[in-house]
Amino acid sequence: MLVTNNAARGPETGRNLDPWYSSYADRTKGLAASEVRALFAVASRPEVVSLAGGSPFVKALPEELIDSAFRSMMREHGPEALQYGGGQGIPQIREQILDIMALEGITDASADDIVTTTGSQHGLDIVSKLFLNPGDVVLAESPSYVGAIGTFRAYEADTVHVEMDEHGLIPSALEETLHRLRSECRVVKFLYTIPNFNNPAGSMMTAERRHEILEVCRREHLLIVEDNPYGLLYYDEQPPHAIRSLDSENVVYLGSFSKILSPGVRVGYVLAPHAIREKMILAVESSILSPSTFNQWLVNEYLKQADWKAQVAAYRDIYRERRDALDAALREHFPQFVWEKPNGGFFIWLQLPEQLDAKQMLPRAVKELVAYTPGTAFYADGRGQHAMRLAFCTETPERLATGVRRLATVINGELDL
Ligand code: PMP
Repeated sequence: MLVTNNAARGPETGRNLDPWYSSYADRTKGLAASEVRALFAVASRPEVVSLAGGSPFVKALPEELIDSAFRSMMREHGPEALQYGGGQGIPQIREQILDIMALEGITDASADDIVTTTGSQHGLDIVSKLFLNPGDVVLAESPSYVGAIGTFRAYEADTVHVEMDEHGLIPSALEETLHRLRSECRVVKFLYTIPNFNNPAGSMMTAERRHEILEVCRREHLLIVEDNPYGLLYYDEQPPHAIRSLDSENVVYLGSFSKILSPGVRVGYVLAPHAIREKMILAVESSILSPSTFNQWLVNEYLKQADWKAQVAAYRDIYRERRDALDAALREHFPQFVWEKPNGGFFIWLQLPEQLDAKQMLPRAVKELVAYTPGTAFYADGRGQHAMRLAFCTETPERLATGVRRLATVINGELDL
């Protein structure tokens, strides 16, 4: 048994470095540092223009808004905020989350349908914990969020990508992939989708596609996990209503305060059908007892006191300007390359000519003081070598222009221009 475990856990070198090597659970073989995480150290050096991480521009959040929320939280709810809470989250914030979800077209939920989480990533972890056995399959867009792929892998499940086009996931591709996997006796547990401003592709699923994808999933009895952290950060037209607004029984919906307020507060939420929700609360309790009451009360007071919609609009203005700056710089330096200008979110997905490998090129880029995320991070199957994700959320328009100029030096050097 010991031998099997070790074999499953990869290279023999681990044994020499870690005295507990042979004690780890089998599932730890799925735990690997993401390419994005490895980049954080490099990209956070001030001289490096970071197009790599997806850190929101929290400096745009006026300090006094948080200060005042904090003071009134301590004044009015101090003892509760400092105390343990329930696994479902405090009822007050769940009431307020209803107003946020209504902006995405979800109007049939009640506060009791919501479970608050320690960010969407925690939501993904709970969903995975509830549904994924080793060897199960999750279907996802091509490309898809690196953090979700990592979580599914941590539960020893495989992510299989479904083709998409400029309208989002292709329903016939979803159906074909599902039938193929089932004919191979694979167990497909859910479809993971980011309909609004996919990370990394930046794409938005059209209203028609949302209906069609839902129809396929209903017909095939496939649960949808809809991850929507960017839905309110649109820069041109507002996106269509959430898939969850069309169906309350087949969709688990994940939301987050990370992008509309701050990722540091680590507050997110899940809206799920009744039976799933009850299991989710048990899963939360078994791992963390309750999400932070302190942070939930802080966000609750912020939502009560501040003009949070105006703050979201302020974020939108800042990110729109940055998106335009990155898009313009790319047009200036890479007119022959392919990308879609996103209508929201944080990222541009840049397709490279076949002879360029984004991962191989990265050390050279860092030497030129610019960092990006290679496309391979967003595929579970090794694809994405000829693509990179460029984040426009972190840097100023001027620095974005500098970053693209540096990138052009690297790329032109590789192409021998
Ligand atoms: N889903 C997607 C698509 C994301 O881009 C992110 C953050 N980058 C998350 C979930 C996790 O967000 P958080 O845990 O901060 O809510």
